[in-house]
Amino acid sequence: MARPISVKRPKTAAERTRRVQAILDALDRMYPGVTCALTHGNAWELLVATILSAQCTDKRVNEVTPGLFRKYPTVRDFAAVSQEELARDIRSTGFFNNKAKSVIGAARKILSDFDGRVPRTMEELLTIPGAARKTANVVLGTAYGVASGVVVDTHVQRIAVRLDLSKNSDPGKIERDLIEVIPRDRWILFSHQVIHHGRALCVARKPKCAECGMNGLCYAEDKSVMAPRAR
Ligand code: SF4
Repeated sequence: MARPISVKRPKTAAERTRRVQAILDALDRMYPGVTCALTHGNAWELLVATILSAQCTDKRVNEVTPGLFRKYPTVRDFAAVSQEELARDIRSTGFFNNKAKSVIGAARKILSDFDGRVPRTMEELLTIPGAARKTANVVLGTAYGVASGVVVDTHVQRIAVRLDLSKNSDPGKIERDLIEVIPRDRWILFSHQVIHHGRALCVARKPKCAECGMNGLCYAEDKSVMAPRAR
């Protein structure tokens, strides 16, 4: 009977720190210099693309946004459009009524409170319709290079638990756990790398563990790499 490859678990704080560093090194080898997959030209476009990416693939969002930003080149254009018309424009991204409402609300808030510019702090971004912590972390990290936290999307949520960097299921608690163990200067890159890893190898069902550079560090229960059968 095949059995999962056994990986030694860290016991001391020093071993845990070394393991986290080894995970970061492996991510660097696997995904050097990756960045956000959403096409954008500025912070506002990234905010819109991130709102549209909820429950939708980045690929689909990237198919919709070039035409969208041609039709509505400025924040003011988005603030002026009707919800019905914008919903039609973004229909293929799903949940289009809610997303249209958020994007128009965000445009109006940015015009009224922030002089037409996407703000640069978490506190301010969280006042914008459609921008919860995950969206705010994407915009601050990618558009402004501000390390406000770790982006916890569905990939990061799954992989943080598989790698035993968190035992929680709530995204807010997972982010707090990750912030504790990942050095701040790695928060932005780590988020991008883990999201890429979730798409490329550490997929939800049957992760491709044999190709994963963290195989020797990972003791996830649903690892797909098995030790050879005893003869
Ligand atoms: S070894 Fe498998 S489960 Fe662990 S991080 Fe890599 S792909 Fe994911």
